[in-house]
Amino acid sequence: MSATTDGIAFVTGANKGIGFEAARGIAKAGYVLLLAGRNPEAGRQAAANLATEGLDVRFVELDVTRAESISAAAARIEADFGKLDVLVNNAGITDSHDGPPSRARVDAIERVLRTNFLGAVATAQAMLPLLRKSDAGRIVNVSSDLGSITRHGDPTWKYATVKVLGYCASKAALNMFSVQLAFELKDQGIKVNSVNPGFTATDLNRHRGQQTVEEGWSGNPAMLTCCGRRSHGHGDRG
Ligand code: NAP
Repeated sequence: MSATTDGIAFVTGANKGIGFEAARGIAKAGYVLLLAGRNPEAGRQAAANLATEGLDVRFVELDVTRAESISAAAARIEADFGKLDVLVNNAGITDSHDGPPSRARVDAIERVLRTNFLGAVATAQAMLPLLRKSDAGRIVNVSSDLGSITRHGDPTWKYATVKVLGYCASKAALNMFSVQLAFELKDQGIKVNSVNPGFTATDLNRHRGQQTVEEGWSGNPAMLTCCGRRSHGHGDRG
């Protein structure tokens, strides 16, 4: 396929959950949507489901913990489109051996950081040359309330007891990445934001979240604004 002037958006971990809904919302906003997932069967099925809604959605295989998978995805986007307009770093995990700081297993913390933080950093770094070819590149990092160090210091906060070190640290680190990358790219036409979908019922929390994925993404205007089509302001909100 030759280079295109249509908006191209790439959402990681989009075969289900918030990523799937993000893919739907961004595709509905008029982008060619590259739906990334590490499981080809699940990813192709998810892309096919969105295609039945008349959306231009294509599957791209991506495991954010594997460098060769990330570079293959970037090479494919380069070959097919020559640029990228929106990257949504959504892929994320929890780990059953993660937990309070006194006893969270170090190997579990490492796994969570590898996916939620290092995976997003590595993916963004690999996609940056393509985002620089966009008129208005956007990077959206899917963070969480639980990444706020300020809120964790408040014993009255509604999630104050949710002290899951690896996961919370991964989102705090992701926020740091958003702020620093936004600063670094501020004169290059690329905006970087962290977004917080809120506590949403998905496989990640065994569907204990208090809102639907639609409420977590489509019902939150900030999400699409960060992706660019409704973006009016400047600077980042990471
Ligand atoms: P989910 O339904 O479990 O979806 C997670 C997605 O990430 C899946 O597509 C999963 O793929 C993918 N993924 C995991 N490891 C990956 C890897 N190494 N490479 C590529 N993809 C990988 O969870 P979710 O709730 O929608 O979570 C999406 C994002 O929202 C996460 O970053 C999460 O931290 C964040 N978030 C969630 C909530 C909430 O309440 N749910 C709140 C705040 C933030 P597989 O299907 O192959 O496992």
